[in-house]
Amino acid sequence: MKKTVAFSKNAANVFFHILTKCNLACRHCYINPEQHGRQTLPLETIKAWLQPFVAQRPQANVIFLGGEPTLHPDLAAAIRYARELGYASVTVDTNGYLFHGILDRVTPDDVDFFSFSLDGATAATNDRLRCQGSFDQCISGIKASIAKGFATSLIYTVSRANAAELDRMPALLQQLGVQRFFIQVIGLRGRSADGGLTTLAGDSPQLTQAEWLALIPPVAQAAAERGLTVTYPKVFLESDEIFECAGLVADNYFIFPNGRVYRCPLCEDYPVHSLRFEQDQLVPADRLNERDFFKLTIPEGCVMHRLIQSPDRDDASHRSTAARIACCLLKEEIQTGPSP
Ligand code: SF4
Ligand code: SF4
Repeated sequence: MKKTVAFSKNAANVFFHILTKCNLACRHCYINPEQHGRQTLPLETIKAWLQPFVAQRPQANVIFLGGEPTLHPDLAAAIRYARELGYASVTVDTNGYLFHGILDRVTPDDVDFFSFSLDGATAATNDRLRCQGSFDQCISGIKASIAKGFATSLIYTVSRANAAELDRMPALLQQLGVQRFFIQVIGLRGRSADGGLTTLAGDSPQLTQAEWLALIPPVAQAAAERGLTVTYPKVFLESDEIFECAGLVADNYFIFPNGRVYRCPLCEDYPVHSLRFEQDQLVPADRLNERDFFKLTIPEGCVMHRLIQSPDRDDASHRSTAARIACCLLKEEIQTGPSP
């Protein structure tokens, strides 16, 4: 069954970058130390910054990110503290290197999902994007995670450099025992906005609408038929679908080590965050900021996509015929596998 995941103000989703340091240097990494900071947050700061999002909310979910979050020596303590605070789910996004013996320091009761990033069905394709040896390491990490009883998911960021191998992923993931498959669209942020993918994907690493629709839904369906739950971004709105900006109708927070807190991931390369931590208190940031953009209504849909992801599309004829772009946070979920 396929469904569009509706935005909700009832669940806060906290994407917490606890450091920006990483052992890899992926060509499409969205981390931008100039804008996000270079700090490794002390445990006490992580604890303080986790607190504002659980109070007075029916549900809060936290995703620990980096950089590579398992490089943080106190990740296990941060995970347990999030649980104590009342976070309904805790996810760790990792490149698979699983530093500091993290799988031995937390249990499946502490962590809902370890979510691995892999960007090719073969070492050749993945390692061209994500560094030599990272495919084998990620596969080893997935196997170790599953062997220890952790629920495991995988994120594949689709660009022109790896789209050709996406259809090989459902069989690989089923064979490994991965439960959830997140297909992501490459954003023009961080290194990919800086030409990091140009030699592998040309000047336009994103698929066209026709290419996206021909590839992604069928692969998602194939993965679901193998028992995986699959999530992928909607990207293009049908003519009868309503455009909504998650910045106005959902409760998402993207926290960076320098204290910036964004509500929209497309804004993260710019100092337009709407909130910030100051002396461990969450306070509004100076205007103008991203909140002023969320209210703008344009025929093309998402205003930040128009400004940042497709700034060259300025001819009127193109605008009138092009599909409206959905909020980058609007997802389709598909699950047709055997019932548990
Ligand atoms: S994409 Fe992730 S694994 Fe790759 S360099 Fe960036 S933070 Fe590290
Ligand atoms: S991606 Fe666009 S629609 Fe979604 S939160 Fe950002 S500005 Fe709003």
